[in-house]
Amino acid sequence: MKARPLSHLNFITLMLSLLAATMASLACVARDEGVAKNEAQLNVARTTSNANDAKAFLPDANANAPIATTNANSATNETLSPLENSAMNSPAQQNARLKTELVWTFGGKQQRGWYLYVPLINQLLGTDKNPDTKEFADALARWQRSNNFTANGILDTDTLLHIINVWQTRRSKDHTIATPEQLMTAPPSDFYAPSRPEELRQVESQTYAAYKRMVAAAASDRSLGLAVTRNGELAASEQYLKIISAFRSPAYQDQLRQQSPNSGTAGLAKNSPHFTARALDLYVGGDPVSTDDRNRALQTQTKVYLWLVKNADKFGFTPYFYEPWHWEYQPR
Ligand SMILES: [Zn+2]
Repeated sequence: MKARPLSHLNFITLMLSLLAATMASLACVARDEGVAKNEAQLNVARTTSNANDAKAFLPDANANAPIATTNANSATNETLSPLENSAMNSPAQQNARLKTELVWTFGGKQQRGWYLYVPLINQLLGTDKNPDTKEFADALARWQRSNNFTANGILDTDTLLHIINVWQTRRSKDHTIATPEQLMTAPPSDFYAPSRPEELRQVESQTYAAYKRMVAAAASDRSLGLAVTRNGELAASEQYLKIISAFRSPAYQDQLRQQSPNSGTAGLAKNSPHFTARALDLYVGGDPVSTDDRNRALQTQTKVYLWLVKNADKFGFTPYFYEPWHWEYQPR
């Protein structure tokens, strides 16, 4: 008996199923490569301080959000007046938009949205709800009322600037240079870069004691997944919460400013809180001290940063909203 030749129809069906199988396997390869690439990039970003590496893998959630520009017209064209807005959208809907689109200025730089500050805003308002919810708008309205604002539940420019003013007021205004008697030298193991020279490992004594108490509490919180020694200290291999920078003398600060002339007034201040040796830059993820929005978006989502926002106050540390890594010992 002769084998029956494939009919046209059978042949086409066979070809189509072969094609489908090939496409499916190709898709798998592409997905796996994507995962591998992301993981590789993640590792690179974790272990280097190169800003470009950190940027390469950062989530693209905000990639479509326009980058802040100096062109005010592009911003105002799409901004409706508050009246027009309130007639169209609920406060929750408006907050969902303003979170990424509100144009404002800080430190001489135009800023876009307030999504980077949601953990701090939630803490201030006493809510853990997302900005696109009615609960968030209600919590904001309560806060606005108690601060003599129109209680509309909308996080607009006036409300945002007032919130920032509250945060900034909590920080120490005293930038007196620490005296040698106030300083102690912390061991290399407390530092993000253990090779940091001795003269750059100085911390004000009370600040250091408070830092050690805070880190011990974080290390004992299993939900953070930090690498811990038998004594409950942060392991040498752990980068999170290690000190990047503490005491900086005015001469050293000048040197840093010359190296980064574009850091702006929100960045390397002439009159730095680091002079007091009570300000600590702590590793909270990503590129250690880059104010790039995508880097800060990553940092402000890490478990360690969220833990600090909720707990640092108990140990006397106050945040600087613009720099997720910068914490000041300012017991209240
Ligand atoms: Zn700092």
